[in-house]
Amino acid sequence: MVVMVKQPNHTFILLLLFTLISASASASASATPVVTRFQQYLRINTAHPHPDYSTAVSFLDGLAKSIPIPNLLHTRTLYLTTPQKPLLLVTLPGSNPSLPSILLNSHLDSVPTEPSKWSHPPFSAVRTHDGNIFARGAQDDKCIAIQYLEAIRNILHKDPGFRPIRTLHICYVPDEEIGGLDGMARFVESQEFRDMNVGFFLDEGHASLNDEYWVFYADRSPWNLVIKATGQPGHGSRMFDNSAMENLMKSVEPSEAEAGYDVRLPPTVDPDLLKKRIADEWAPATRNVSYHIVEKGPLRDYMGRPLITTTNDSNPWWTVFKHAVEACGGKLSKPEILASTTDARYMRFRGIPTFGFSPMKNTPILLHDHNEFLKDTVLLEGIKVYEIKALTSFEGAHLLNNDQFPGILFEFHISMYE
Ligand SMILES: [Zn+2]
Repeated sequence: MVVMVKQPNHTFILLLLFTLISASASASASATPVVTRFQQYLRINTAHPHPDYSTAVSFLDGLAKSIPIPNLLHTRTLYLTTPQKPLLLVTLPGSNPSLPSILLNSHLDSVPTEPSKWSHPPFSAVRTHDGNIFARGAQDDKCIAIQYLEAIRNILHKDPGFRPIRTLHICYVPDEEIGGLDGMARFVESQEFRDMNVGFFLDEGHASLNDEYWVFYADRSPWNLVIKATGQPGHGSRMFDNSAMENLMKSVEPSEAEAGYDVRLPPTVDPDLLKKRIADEWAPATRNVSYHIVEKGPLRDYMGRPLITTTNDSNPWWTVFKHAVEACGGKLSKPEILASTTDARYMRFRGIPTFGFSPMKNTPILLHDHNEFLKDTVLLEGIKVYEIKALTSFEGAHLLNNDQFPGILFEFHISMYE
């Protein structure tokens, strides 16, 4: 290029800037109304310890009501504990209400932030030139909250006559990050939940680093294991060689020591066998060692089956879900067990087929981390994946009759921010 100006240096800088801006603009989405709505939701601070649930619920309620399908989509706010902990239900009634319904879930709350460690304030929802939107909750899990509603909006925009066969519900629940005892645990005990006759549940997952969407068929269940040793520990045991326990024992005087372990168990583990192994090998009473376990989540459902959702053809929901995602241009990863625990366990406990799924591909995993962000194009692509009419139009698979469920209240001790 021939530079015919008097100030070539400035021109060069301007050209360079222009080139950079053009390049990044092509890689990010333009500021669409959807992106703006996502930013608005992110700016509502629902982080613990003082989540602003009521503002979040009125925002989502307004968003649902802005979908132009009068007299079809309706919303309800439930207060299962206190007025400070609302739960929002959005319902798109199906033409055959006798079929079990579909329930999509998003929790309203987020984990706390340390603003000094963020490059942008965590509730500013700043969108950088490359389309990254920075905010607590961008990945966990306010993206799916918006994507569910925008997918319904898109389906009805393209096909105003569309009516699902199965009823579709979305629930926005409080307190997932602190164990869900005043959230999902209460909700599944409610008459409203029983009346919904849920046959299939979709909950949050997390981002994937490659081109495939991650899907989870089980959660890991946390156990707190405390091993306590008193008196003089023996020597030469193979179990104690170089173990954390032995180091602990050596480092303290007098001869009493306690060590805590955060154990995350896949539901494929047999809890009774594991307890036996702990008693025999890790904490043998003959060596003056005792142990205490706090089970913070179940490993078996109400029928005693491992807390997993089957991912083969024997589960028709798996096939329908997989094909539905593929039909929307998405590709699913090999199903895995989530490293943490979510509200999904309350559904799997009831035998309801449940997948963990947040459609974020080619995205660093930043849930609970500083500088959590989601790229605008990833948000928009994820909406397409939820435009899965096939799920609500699926008439096979009549599953669990909820009336058979004994309705035992959970009595697990769940600590903060799992
Ligand atoms: Zn989450």
